Amino acid sequence: MKLGFSTLSLFMKSFEEWLEIASRDGFNMMEILCEGPHTWPRIALSFGPEVFQIFESYDIDIYLHSPTIDMNPASLNPGIREETLIQTKETIDMAVMIGAKAITTHPGLIHRLEDRVREMGKFYSVETLTEANQYAKDRDVLLSVENMPNRYAYFCNTAQEHSYFIKETGAHATVDLGHANTNGDVKPFLSLENISYYHLSDNNGEKDQHLSLGEGNLNLNLLKGIDNVIIELNNYENVLKSREIFINSRGS
Ligand SMILES: [Zn+2]
Repeated sequence: MKLGFSTLSLFMKSFEEWLEIASRDGFNMMEILCEGPHTWPRIALSFGPEVFQIFESYDIDIYLHSPTIDMNPASLNPGIREETLIQTKETIDMAVMIGAKAITTHPGLIHRLEDRVREMGKFYSVETLTEANQYAKDRDVLLSVENMPNRYAYFCNTAQEHSYFIKETGAHATVDLGHANTNGDVKPFLSLENISYYHLSDNNGEKDQHLSLGEGNLNLNLLKGIDNVIIELNNYENVLKSREIFINSRGS
């Protein structure tokens, strides 16, 4: 089984420190959050190919989470969509340099809660992500679109809409189990087609709280068969604690 953590839990460390910690603690997978000062793709790429050589020394599957703060592939503003596409492409370029398996991105959101605005945003998001997926395909990288918490403003907030996005854009799916849990029913997300990997955290079934496993009501019995799991918490001690609970819940 492949199991790892998001660098969200060890913010502001170097590539080498993250790889050392992952290998010391026996993880075989890691997701780099590309929002930090040295992991933002445009900056990271500007340092030149040497900074990525370190990844060759470790047998750890790398995944990238593209910048999503202030980005929006569904924006009604063409300039924001364009910048979102540029930064997604830069993340794909970084994935090529690292030899990363896939990059995750978000489907975006609307800022006016009306059906007709939502339909328009959905059209734009599919358009932006289809172009990003083509760029990824041409470079042998998987683009993976993540499901979002259960709020009207967010796209891919149901398994049905997530499936629609995957089919329309040709991208793969990152299934965030915490986000799925806010939807009430996790199961339909587990049977989506083309799932590349999972984000794992717990919550009370309403808010995306990023709790350690067992502190919320996520049903771990549902997760028995899944592989390629990134524990996504903002504290590394809790990552280790959650790993124990996750492994025990599978009944080794
Ligand atoms: Zn995400």
